Amino acid sequence: MSPSSSHSWIVGVLAIQGDFEAHLKMLRALGEVRDASLRGRAVVGRAVRKVQDLDGLSALILPGGESTTISKGLAREELVKPIHEFAAAGHPILGTCAGAILLCRSAENHPVPTLGLVDAVALRNAYGTQVDSFAQLVDPGCAPGFEGMRCVFIRAPKLATLGAGVEVLARVGGEPVFVRDGKILATTFHPELTDDLRVHAALVAAIRE
Ligand code: GLN
Repeated sequence: MSPSSSHSWIVGVLAIQGDFEAHLKMLRALGEVRDASLRGRAVVGRAVRKVQDLDGLSALILPGGESTTISKGLAREELVKPIHEFAAAGHPILGTCAGAILLCRSAENHPVPTLGLVDAVALRNAYGTQVDSFAQLVDPGCAPGFEGMRCVFIRAPKLATLGAGVEVLARVGGEPVFVRDGKILATTFHPELTDDLRVHAALVAAIRE
């Protein structure tokens, strides 16, 4: 099916820096599953480097990587305003790790300019150097559908002072690791580094809401 087909959900992945290829791989896998929630539509991933790459997208992913570098790239490519407009038009966005940092209302510990689309403060590298990479299952009591999800953390942030409108979908060790503010989803872990498609499926589900 052609990426421009009206029967496809085109999901963009910001491809300035970071692990955008892994997200594109997840979207290919999701497209192959064709589960009932997709209502027969195909999911097609598209690398986003320029403003015009946003045309026709149904959703956008901001990947993990280095939030300072990605933030500079957003400014250089003049993508900040178009991404705000994309969100204001009701399109869902998923940010993972560095991408989640960029979505927050502010970032502390090496501050970086953020998009302010999730009402939370990101504390960068909050797990410290001793445990800068680890994998852990979500705590019991997460939102239905995410039970038993294994989360991979790499120099992950923590999310603090969540606004009243922010829903916590999953926690690890008591910390919110997967949150939702309207149609904006953020994970402090890397869902693209496992073969669990549930976070990406949740983004596609948000397109249809
Ligand atoms: N520590 C990185 C930052 O603050 C994020 C790491 C990641 O995306 N895995 O930008």
